[in-house]
Amino acid sequence: MREEREDDDGLDDVAVRHVQPYQAVKAYRCPGCNHEIAPGVGHKVVVPVHSPDLRRHWHTPCWEAELRRHGRGGSPTAANRAPKGPKRPKHRRRPRPG
Ligand SMILES: [Zn+2]
Repeated sequence: MREEREDDDGLDDVAVRHVQPYQAVKAYRCPGCNHEIAPGVGHKVVVPVHSPDLRRHWHTPCWEAELRRHGRGGSPTAANRAPKGPKRPKHRRRPRPG
């Protein structure tokens, strides 16, 4: 028997949808890393079941890291390992002056 009492951490009743790159037509702010999710980047939309207005857009790796922080998903041993290091954003090539 599992206990019904659980801390409502905000992660219990969320619907997570994957947004395909072609569906991402706007830039969003990722609450995980506080950086922008650029248009055309596949990511996750996390919708609280009880308050759908509070949906947030997350980078896929940021959301997976968030799940691990809450002990969800992935293997428990892997969660203890340090992350590989910051991902470097792709740099846009700037046109050279003439
Ligand atoms: Zn992020």
